[in-house]
Amino acid sequence: MNIRRNIVIFNVCWSLLISSSLAWMIFNARQEQRRIALITARSVFKQIVITRRWNSLHGGVYTPVTEMNQPNPYLEDPLRDLQVNETMVLTKINPALMTRQISEIAMFEEGVQFHITSLKPLRPLNEATPIEKQFLQSFEQGKKEESDFIEEGGHQVFKYMAPLITEKSCLNCHQKQGYKEGDIRGGISVSLPFTMQIPIASMVLSHLLIWVIGLVGLNVLGLKLARSYNVIRRQAVMDALTGIANRRSFSERILAEFTICRKSDAELSVIMCDIDNFKKYNDCYGHIEGDDCLRKVAKCIEDSLKRPIDFCARYGGEEFVVVLPQGSLKGAMTVAERIREGVENMRIEHIESTTGGIVTISLGIATRKIVDADSYEQLIQCADKALYLAKKRGRNQVHQFTAGDENML
Ligand code: GH3
Ligand code: MG
Ligand code: MG
Repeated sequence: MNIRRNIVIFNVCWSLLISSSLAWMIFNARQEQRRIALITARSVFKQIVITRRWNSLHGGVYTPVTEMNQPNPYLEDPLRDLQVNETMVLTKINPALMTRQISEIAMFEEGVQFHITSLKPLRPLNEATPIEKQFLQSFEQGKKEESDFIEEGGHQVFKYMAPLITEKSCLNCHQKQGYKEGDIRGGISVSLPFTMQIPIASMVLSHLLIWVIGLVGLNVLGLKLARSYNVIRRQAVMDALTGIANRRSFSERILAEFTICRKSDAELSVIMCDIDNFKKYNDCYGHIEGDDCLRKVAKCIEDSLKRPIDFCARYGGEEFVVVLPQGSLKGAMTVAERIREGVENMRIEHIESTTGGIVTISLGIATRKIVDADSYEQLIQCADKALYLAKKRGRNQVHQFTAGDENML
């Protein structure tokens, strides 16, 4: 298991998750913004239509002429202006003028703007803007309303527009333009100031914060986990006392090498090593010194291996095993002799020893070309037998297993 690679994958997944969440939140906020703007604009539009209907049902309403309220030059009505007395003249306000006047108040007080427009306006100022023309054309194709966020006068506004349907009361003035009841005569656009800003900066910042906290947590925990995992893995494959491979790791590796040698028709050598008179060493110098001796011998065996594919392991107690894949018997003899000499040359004092007052080691070699019927356990057994003979012949020596050894055991 490659924990570091998994941490990178988790980091990527976490980053994707956070960026997707941010994108989703911004998308939802935009949708919500549009929904609220649409509801607001619709209700403003309905309010204008109701007010216009009220006006047209009365055939227009009279208001005093003032500086601000001048007669409508586009209203063709003989009763447009009525002189009430010497000081007061009333003028008729039709729905169009009323909408314009309300729009001016709304614009001044709320920043909301209405615009009555048509593809063939009576009043030139009512001419549709390009976007309004586009909306009006879509109404003619059956659309009931249109809206969009647009840039207007350097500000972002929400532009809503719905068609203005000709009602019976409108025909008094608009019949001469050729409109019938139910015709789309134009539309009223409502421009809402874009007040509800999406808090993108705070969304990004909060996501950034969560992302960083997540990344730090993920990496700190991940690295701690990786370290613990490596320690456990090392403990699982290494011998705690000597630091070389343990028996379990040996079994796995020899099985793998055995399979490779069988496929490639190559030779595999196993050397079983056993420290001589080690029980006496413990008895004489104590277990702590005994452990130290085991470490020195293990290091000596490890240092004697020169090819990267060769390996050694603690087989158990004071026994070690060396595996030399794809090598010759001659090579195995050289390695075994190097180990024996190495241990001897350390000259670790062992007064009870039967091999010259120092710690020595005996080694048994088994080399075989691997064929299908073989198992690595057989090879170990042969090396064990060779070791037994090395011991029997006086210790501190290397013995190579031969077919005849079976009879000597
Ligand atoms: P021989 O030359 O025939 O191999 O004799 P020997 O005394 O080495 O063999 P024997 O199997 O009788 O004794 C092995 C000893 O190794 C027994 C045990 O006390 C010692 N031993 C096994 N494991 C450890 C260990 O981890 N630490 C220490 N200090 N001693 C150990
Ligand atoms: Mg032993
Ligand atoms: Mg021994």
